[in-house]
Amino acid sequence: MPASRSKQSLPKESDPDSEPVSGSEPLRRTTPGNLFVLTGPSGVGKNTIIERVLAEAGGIVESVSVTTRKQRERELDGVDYFFTDRESFEKMKKQNHFIESAEFAGNYYGTPRNWVENRIMEGLDVVLVIEVQGAKQVKEQFPQSILIFLAPPTMDELEKRLRTRATEPEDVIAMRLDKAGQEMKERDVFHYEVVNEDIDQAVNNVLSIVYAERCRIKP
Ligand code: 5GP
Repeated sequence: MPASRSKQSLPKESDPDSEPVSGSEPLRRTTPGNLFVLTGPSGVGKNTIIERVLAEAGGIVESVSVTTRKQRERELDGVDYFFTDRESFEKMKKQNHFIESAEFAGNYYGTPRNWVENRIMEGLDVVLVIEVQGAKQVKEQFPQSILIFLAPPTMDELEKRLRTRATEPEDVIAMRLDKAGQEMKERDVFHYEVVNEDIDQAVNNVLSIVYAERCRIKP
């Protein structure tokens, strides 16, 4: 996750109107918001794309996950992730703190339940940018959620992107590529697939899905 991104930090639950939201003014609605999940292999460009989608769409916010991964140099605690240790993470998990959680390439990741559920009840759309195992858990728990799989044009291109990003040592890159191969096989369980070949096109496709889902008559 690039550290320069300006994700919203976790808001104070007591004062939801004070929370900073990415993009233009939040679109408050009287009906619950949608829960979107953007999933796909590490390095495919999920964060780059969602940053642009949030800036363009308005009314949609991104959850900040908890992780045991080591903080990267330019990442901010509470903005990019809430960084914690394994013991605290396991405790939070036992206390039902997460909607979903997964172990990915040796680290734990989880999505805070209260924050997400409260935003949805306020009428905001929420997007989770998470790996495939977690996305499948969300699908089971929230049958109304909308799951988008972001795919690389080719596996060679994904490898190139992971190496160019240079945020991980070689053994971790190898682990993430291996995981990517498995994740690509699971893409059929999601609702939409967007191929990130041309970034503008991929952003437009994700935006189209968000807009279409807002117009959909729900059962
Ligand atoms: P990274 O370590 O590169 O920031 O993230 C590794 C993978 O974990 C990425 O695919 C990222 O989308 C995913 N991830 C980030 N937060 C969460 C989370 O809360 N839950 C799950 N299941 N995956 C997450």
